[in-house]
Amino acid sequence: MRRKAGTQKRICSGCGKHVAEIHEVVEREVRDLPWSEYRATVVVELCRVRCPDCGPRMEKVAQLPSKAPFSKRFEEAVGQACESAAASQVGRRFGLAASTVRAIDMRYLTRWESTRRRPALKQMGIDEIYLGKSGKFITVVSNLETGEPLWFGHERKKETIDEFFRSQLSPLQRTRIQAACIDMWPAFKSSLEQWAPQCAIIYDKFHIMQHANKAIDEVRRAEFFRQGGWRRKIVKGKRWLLLTRWVNLTEDKQQDLNRLFRLNRRLMKAYLMKESLERLWQQPSETKAVTYLTNWIRQLRWQRLPAFEKFAHMLLDHSEGILNYYRVAVRFGVVEAINGNIRLLLHRGRGYKNLRYLLLKAQRMAAAKTEFVAFRIAA
Ligand SMILES: [Zn+2]
Repeated sequence: MRRKAGTQKRICSGCGKHVAEIHEVVEREVRDLPWSEYRATVVVELCRVRCPDCGPRMEKVAQLPSKAPFSKRFEEAVGQACESAAASQVGRRFGLAASTVRAIDMRYLTRWESTRRRPALKQMGIDEIYLGKSGKFITVVSNLETGEPLWFGHERKKETIDEFFRSQLSPLQRTRIQAACIDMWPAFKSSLEQWAPQCAIIYDKFHIMQHANKAIDEVRRAEFFRQGGWRRKIVKGKRWLLLTRWVNLTEDKQQDLNRLFRLNRRLMKAYLMKESLERLWQQPSETKAVTYLTNWIRQLRWQRLPAFEKFAHMLLDHSEGILNYYRVAVRFGVVEAINGNIRLLLHRGRGYKNLRYLLLKAQRMAAAKTEFVAFRIAA
């Protein structure tokens, strides 16, 4: 491939200026889109320009965005394939190593990201995701209005969120934040109070129900150890059932739970308490919600469910932020959806040692609203 005669001035890849003087002519081979069933390699004639500012430099060509031996449209095809499949899968299709696919995808996403507008952050969500033993926790800051993750930080300390406010937002941008949906985690709250004191803190349903599930799990474990023999067998393996909402269970599974509840009343009470807490967010007004919460906590009396009593104390301590749901309109479920998407990416991708890559992937996923195509890897 050679440039048409006549177009004389080349662009210096160092500074972006037009340069007329040519230092030397070179050839470069890049992989391009396939031709029919054949793999296509294009040999491109390129110039090294003699830039007055940078010295001898390679000219800049839009179709060759990086030093890697691939054309831009080839990289785009690979990047698009990565939106719906794991890197190893894409690699098999294009005849590339998975690591090469990931590098191409990263460049593809970086180019995409550099051209987009960033909407103002008015409602933010803060969540944490457990990366497993080696990666520990990461904190995810997201924009609740656009439903996309904005930033990832290591661990889940106050310093983590401080770092977000310091490095990502200007003082003016900080004052524009109206609301934040967070978990009942003191570190997040104290950072928000310091950097965005005007913002309303909302403890969202998703996180509160996570704590309710933790309480159920504690009850389950306590009951498992309390009971011996054949009764223990009944409690065993019921974790998932107890953590799933009744409406999401099939009839057989509901029967399974009913059988368990006939034998263990304490587990039944715990399950009913969790189920009924959902209605705290369906009250017609804040006053009704306060009454509902008070009654819910009252029902715990004499039930001997210490895990739930502890949880109730937590709810009381954070009731202001929980009831903020009735004062500030935020989109609920966004934090949950973002969390779910990231989990899905982590599950499929495995090697996300590069957090920036994971963030770009999650952003692209939110923007494109793509869903992962499930691949069954041949055994
Ligand atoms: Zn230059």
